[in-house]
Amino acid sequence: MKSDVEISQAVELSPINEVAEKIGIDDANLEQYGHYKAKVSLSDVDKNQGKLVLVTSINPTAAGEGKTTLTVGLGDALNELGKNAVLALREPSLGPVMGMKGGATGGGYSQVVPMEDINLHFTGDFHALTEAHNTLAALIDNHIHHGNELNIDPRQIEWKRVLDVNDRELRQTVIGLGGRTSGVPRQDGFDITVASELMAILCLSTDLTDLKDRISNILIGYTYDRKPVYVKDLKVQGALALLLKDAIKPNLVQTIEHTPAFIHGGPFANIAHGCNSILATKAAMHYGDIALTEAGFGSDLGAEKFMDIVTPKLGKNPDCVVVVATIRALKLNGGQNKKELATEDLHALETGAVNLFRHVKSMRNFQVPVLVTINKFGTDTENEVTLLTKLIKDNLNLPTYVSENFEKGGKGAIDLAKGVIDAVEQPNNFTPVYDSDDDIETKMQKIVTKVYGGANVELSSKAKTQLKKIKKLGYDKLPVCMAKTQYSFTDNPKELGAPVDFTIHVSELEIRSGAGFIVALTGKILTMPGLPSHPAALNMDIDDQGKITGLF
Ligand code: ADP
Ligand code: MG
Repeated sequence: MKSDVEISQAVELSPINEVAEKIGIDDANLEQYGHYKAKVSLSDVDKNQGKLVLVTSINPTAAGEGKTTLTVGLGDALNELGKNAVLALREPSLGPVMGMKGGATGGGYSQVVPMEDINLHFTGDFHALTEAHNTLAALIDNHIHHGNELNIDPRQIEWKRVLDVNDRELRQTVIGLGGRTSGVPRQDGFDITVASELMAILCLSTDLTDLKDRISNILIGYTYDRKPVYVKDLKVQGALALLLKDAIKPNLVQTIEHTPAFIHGGPFANIAHGCNSILATKAAMHYGDIALTEAGFGSDLGAEKFMDIVTPKLGKNPDCVVVVATIRALKLNGGQNKKELATEDLHALETGAVNLFRHVKSMRNFQVPVLVTINKFGTDTENEVTLLTKLIKDNLNLPTYVSENFEKGGKGAIDLAKGVIDAVEQPNNFTPVYDSDDDIETKMQKIVTKVYGGANVELSSKAKTQLKKIKKLGYDKLPVCMAKTQYSFTDNPKELGAPVDFTIHVSELEIRSGAGFIVALTGKILTMPGLPSHPAALNMDIDDQGKITGLF
């Protein structure tokens, strides 16, 4: 089979205005970025509300389980069946593109295109975010340099700097060296752009005013007498919102089969909420009859956050959830060596299938229809597919949709599409996992017991102290954004399958008052990844004619 970039280069794309026209976006609302990309203005996207499908997965292998690939294929399949399906997906971060995980534009015959552009600089949203984030950092230090009227304690600044590069060297830095004219020395550090609170804010904002309000409320640090300092105290929310005036508009592209796709925003799924922008999802629901969106990592992370953090702001809950499973990842969960996942192992599959059952049961708590699909790999055997289908029937009383869209495009996901068309028409009784009125400890306890299948939450002494501060500042009713490993229901990446009776250890609680949630850090979460020993960058090239190779 051809590589992803070879498949995508062979596609004849439709001009983006034709893609837009097909779903009723008129020229006045379309800002073209070249022939195949456009931004869509923010007006009117609240008027219609199509059905909404949320795609999530089991605990992934390091390679990902094909949620994006599946979402694209499902959208194409729905359109093939005569529905008007529109996608809403995240933008890729350049860190992982150059590093390990690869792009975020799907794969095989289920891709969004032009994949080179989307995976590289796209329409510049992430650069704008990086710029806005670092402008705020510079403004804070500048304020201190010029007399520090707000009395900001340089040792208690919570706003780091960001870059969209996996650069472990920058995790901890010292800045302001060079004497009296070069600032005030202090310890600092860099996060990756997708970990910036501004990214989460961009993705949760419903318009420019909301964006500016949220930016105003970002907690940037504390004064020497431990009072909180916000962006509004520096009076720079206007400038920062201005830097994001275009980044806030959703980007429109297409799939290989010309299904319209809004690709916008890309917050980390661990320390942030891991879903594309609310504006993109609204646009997909407005212009489509069925909108499809993906939540990052497994259902324990991205999907839970979609239900409990995004849904209230979006004003719409999913009409159905699709849980993507791969036989490879279930075998990994069942103890098979990760280097041997291409070899048949029915025992490991049966042992690891408990991971899928747990995810489906957790999702059923939200009381919307849940569908299961196997994203089929060429290495999956008939025996394995038959066994998994039987296990799903016996344990979940669900049919199994086998999706082969990676190899066949939309045609490979027709059965699933028919299941989805039926499921979104079922009445649902959407129920979030916690009440907005619950305090933070109760919220965490409910997530751990109902979604992870664990028993308890334990706070470190540092987290307990932070909880007191959170209460004092009046943030104890905010939603909780759990930062946890994606590999396990527990906070230990090595505990695969479906562990029981475990405790989740919260090491720290961070206030994200602009985004409007509290981040609960469990285990070791890196907010600035590093590159692997053989980064993807080593395979990439571009020739004299501008032809790109090695981009997966
Ligand atoms: P996720 O969204 O869950 O992270 P992706 O859709 O990005 O996963 O897929 C992860 C990687 O796996 C991509 O490189 C993609 O091309 C590849 N992939 C997905 N599905 C298949 C499949 N059925 N066969 C082979 N490779 C696949
Ligand atoms: Mg994805």
